[in-house]
Amino acid sequence: MTEPRLEADLTGRFDRLLWATLAGYAALVVLAFTVVSETSLRRSLEQSADGIESLLGLYVDTATARNTVAPAMLADQLLGMGDRFLITRTVSTGDGRIDPSVYFLSPTMPAKRIETGPGMSAEAVRQTLLESIAARGRWRFHVFHRRSGEFDIYVAGSRRPYLVAVLGLSLGALFLLPIAALWARREANRAVERALAPLGRVVRETQAIGPSALSRRVGTPTGLAEVTGLAEAINRMIDRVERSHRALEAFTADASHELRTPLTHLRAQVQWALAEHRAPADIHEALTATGREVDRMSRMVEDMLLIARGENRQLAIERQAFDLEAVAQEVKEITADMTPTSTITVSLDVDGLQGLQAVGDPARVRQILLNLASNAVRYTKEGAITFTLAHRDGLAGVRVRDTGCGIPPEQIDRVFDRFYRVESSRSRAHGGSGLGLTIAQVLAELQDGRIEVESRPGHGSTFSLWLPCPPLERR
Ligand code: ADP
Repeated sequence: MTEPRLEADLTGRFDRLLWATLAGYAALVVLAFTVVSETSLRRSLEQSADGIESLLGLYVDTATARNTVAPAMLADQLLGMGDRFLITRTVSTGDGRIDPSVYFLSPTMPAKRIETGPGMSAEAVRQTLLESIAARGRWRFHVFHRRSGEFDIYVAGSRRPYLVAVLGLSLGALFLLPIAALWARREANRAVERALAPLGRVVRETQAIGPSALSRRVGTPTGLAEVTGLAEAINRMIDRVERSHRALEAFTADASHELRTPLTHLRAQVQWALAEHRAPADIHEALTATGREVDRMSRMVEDMLLIARGENRQLAIERQAFDLEAVAQEVKEITADMTPTSTITVSLDVDGLQGLQAVGDPARVRQILLNLASNAVRYTKEGAITFTLAHRDGLAGVRVRDTGCGIPPEQIDRVFDRFYRVESSRSRAHGGSGLGLTIAQVLAELQDGRIEVESRPGHGSTFSLWLPCPPLERR
């Protein structure tokens, strides 16, 4: 399904809104005009009725003379008014009946003849009048009725003048509306185009960023706050992508470099062994060296896989309260076994924290401490390796302190980087691959812990592992 384009969608919405607004406005104008005209027509009819009523009052004496038509003097006056009206008079006949009769009918009245008769009610007269007026056009006249004593005054006013104006207005609106709407649509199109231009630019600039141009960024500000926000978010995302891309590049370069050296060794050894006239003892020696190299490479590949799985959160990590002291004790004993010479003493200082508990995976914690301890053994010629339990800010820790060569301050931040060795030749001679601390850090972070390091060249180093403590009641 093809999605609608934002530009077309916005223009369409704007268009519909515009039509509805303009048509609504025109209808409102016509309605307001009609209401005002109708009200003023009614007011003028009321005024006419007032005039007629006062004339009837002036001739009250003659009016009481029970005439069925207006006396000549009154009729002259009424005629002079020039309005369209009808006056009926309802008088009680002697036998108790009530008869309405036409008292005066102005010559301009739309209903020329009103039939009245004995027994007809005033209401019936009104109905007859309205019907005969309606017969000349239902909407053409407004009839105003007023009762004044025995008289019923009906004044009719023509709606024609204002209906013509209403019709003119409506027709004007009908013709002008599409023109106004077309013009507004063109302007709306332009406005939407202008508004979306920065977005289009951000799309084009983002498309131009690829693996070969990862250092490019989308230009900001774009001229629209929202689009600038979007561009900045894209830039931040590309920052992250670039960082991990660089890390991956560095990792690939490091890994291939690290594997190339042992592979060169292997090839040389195999070629040497394959040469003619090699004594069986020499071949055996070459194969033993080959085996060691293969073991080292396998360990390195295992370590690389472990780091990759840890960083992708694919390692199974337990989360339980466990006895950190017991794990430290076990690692201390293994470390003591790793240092057969008596030049290094290995000890555990519980520091009053017997049975110190931590939350995490005891097997992984053991692995971390063994990595730290084997480094301590590797880089300490003589002196002491001390494990110390610690407790700080709700964290349980183990410090691994050695009196070895230490790490220069300018390199201390890099020792956790993959394949980083402070002194490559020295470390490789020790059998290190530069992955031990990376693994320790990845495993610590997976358990919400961390590793801190302090070191003084020539005096030794202290690596501290910190892990969360169990909740109080479980401690
Ligand atoms: P390696 O396998 O080379 O020991 P690590 O990642 O464990 O790799 O350590 C990285 C580097 O940090 C080592 O090569 C070493 O130079 C330095 N290092 C680590 N631990 C110590 C220590 N206890 N004393 C001195 N240097 C250390």
